[in-house]
Amino acid sequence: MTRLTIDGVEVEVAPGTTVLQAARAAGRDIPTLCFDERLAPFGACRVCLVGVQDAPGPIASCTTACREGMVVDTQAPAARRVAGAVVELVLSELAAPPAEHTELAAVARQFGVGEPRWPGAVHPEREDLRHPYLAFQHGLCISCGRCVRACDEIQGAFALTATGRGFTANVAAGIDAGFRESACVSCGACADTCPTDAIAEVSLLALAESATI
Ligand code: SF4
Repeated sequence: MTRLTIDGVEVEVAPGTTVLQAARAAGRDIPTLCFDERLAPFGACRVCLVGVQDAPGPIASCTTACREGMVVDTQAPAARRVAGAVVELVLSELAAPPAEHTELAAVARQFGVGEPRWPGAVHPEREDLRHPYLAFQHGLCISCGRCVRACDEIQGAFALTATGRGFTANVAAGIDAGFRESACVSCGACADTCPTDAIAEVSLLALAESATI
């Protein structure tokens, strides 16, 4: 077993346990965006940053394994500041705030991020409604990669592809010919994991819209 301290509490975890897993098991809430416990850790979004004693800077808790004697501070000011800025940057690229029920909106609330301070270029609205059950609103995509990994790791369909780089990064079904022409088997794993509703089940979207009218 590996012994470490998280927010002043000593915990003992199995070797290989990540800091995020250990913290959550200890009842500490660390916000995440690209993480889904059903998928292999990705470590891309930097929202799960925590402070570790003697480390040169905040570390991504989702991809860092616990070490013997580690001292973790989930509320370290530097980690919270950087992670909050990441969330604010993500929001600044969206044409409108995320719907209240989405995971992204919940994470923004956790960091107290409201209207982004850095208005700039936003992703253009582009909808793909060719699938009978799944709606793709490309402008809401934050390139977290969860849908692509869910399609690969949960369903093994490999129907989705990450496209572009930087600000233009997005996701395409098949060779960008839409879900219906791709290897999609309509399992819904992508919509289930998407933290922004960029991919959503048409029926649930309609329900969410009627609830806000
Ligand atoms: S469509 Fe959703 S899950 Fe896929 S990369 Fe974009 S935000 Fe992430």
